[in-house]
Amino acid sequence: MEKALEAVLAAIDAEKDHVVALTQDLVRIPSVNPKFQAEQGLNREADVQDRIEEELRPMEFGIERFETFENRPNVVADLPGSEEKSMILCGHVDVVPVGDANAWARDPFGGQLDSGKIWGRGAVDMKGGVAACISAARAIRRAGVELEGRLSIHTVVDEEAGGFGAIDVVNRGHLAKHAIIAEPTWGDVIPAEGGLDWTKVTIFGKQSHAGWRYNMIWPQHDTPGRLEPGVNAIELATRFIAALRDFEASRCRRTNHPLMPAGLATINPGTIMGGAGMGEDGNPAIMTNAAMTSDVCTIVLDYKFMPQEDFADVKAEFEAFVHHFASMDPWMRENPPKIEWSLWDLHFPPMNTPEDHPLAQATLARATQLQAKPPLLKGFEAVTDAAHYAGKGVVPIIYGPSGDGFHGDNECVEVDSLVETTKVIAATVLDMCGVKS
Ligand SMILES: [Zn+2]
Repeated sequence: MEKALEAVLAAIDAEKDHVVALTQDLVRIPSVNPKFQAEQGLNREADVQDRIEEELRPMEFGIERFETFENRPNVVADLPGSEEKSMILCGHVDVVPVGDANAWARDPFGGQLDSGKIWGRGAVDMKGGVAACISAARAIRRAGVELEGRLSIHTVVDEEAGGFGAIDVVNRGHLAKHAIIAEPTWGDVIPAEGGLDWTKVTIFGKQSHAGWRYNMIWPQHDTPGRLEPGVNAIELATRFIAALRDFEASRCRRTNHPLMPAGLATINPGTIMGGAGMGEDGNPAIMTNAAMTSDVCTIVLDYKFMPQEDFADVKAEFEAFVHHFASMDPWMRENPPKIEWSLWDLHFPPMNTPEDHPLAQATLARATQLQAKPPLLKGFEAVTDAAHYAGKGVVPIIYGPSGDGFHGDNECVEVDSLVETTKVIAATVLDMCGVKS
């Protein structure tokens, strides 16, 4: 094993330029997620995949390519071997928009190499990580090392807008025992991340003319033939949001994970719409007439849960909370709020790979051996494609290079860390896939 590793590390050192040049090439192909910014010439995920296939084909990977959305293909590449020791290296090819181009000191799609860094949108998130996965596989092939387990490389679209590329890949059954998602982790090893669901709550009121609102404020018991007052869904929603804040706080205090910061189980009310009449899209139909008592208010929650939590339990707990809240009000008892989970299919299962799992331990040991900076073992506060693999029973970790400007301006990846990442990933592949003697 250590002899095979020596040969692989020598192959990486012999062509350090490979991972650098490949990262530059990938950054130079703009692949902004079209869900954020659709513009001629900017949404070239397919061209990034062409460039990746060009690298993988000579390495004798079997390549499958399929579109998740029109002209937005995933690439799944397999080097055959046993399932028992199979491993996926995964990265996404889409990037977030550049933002204010004037805030950048260099061309955001120039891939310039300067001050030991490669600059441009996607350099660290995560074309550098994708290049490191490919360079690691290339070094293993060039060193003539034969793996026992299947090695797969997945390059996927649409991570930045929900991970629908990775969802497509796992739903088609492209799985393995283990996976490394090479998102930027600054050389740390990340075996845990929480789950996330977008959850819609619809609160119902009763429509009436706002002219009769005085009936709600000061009931006119003695007026014969008075109109029945309405019930204002927007006002019910304000009470709901106040109660939700207490429920959120109690969850944040109660649920903890050793690798996660305290208080991570947040429930963010992200959008709210109030108006009159139920529209076909499930939101208020009339949003331009304030002279009506609102009878529909919809709130979309960014609902986070902890790595160790089961989604079925999370749902049951929230549904019980909403039920109790509604049962305290006579109108809402009869007209309970509606809860819809996974709005627009936005759902990330949690990743909870044990700290002592061989994959976490192997990556940690190799990072300790091969990196200048000692790695930490920690959890991740946001969500990645690791979720979608974990949800299908793959054991993943997240591990990748260092850089800056992630989702901001002046994004870059550090060249030294790219080379280190390539080495650590290659060494971990040897450990987990095993080497034929
Ligand atoms: Zn990313």
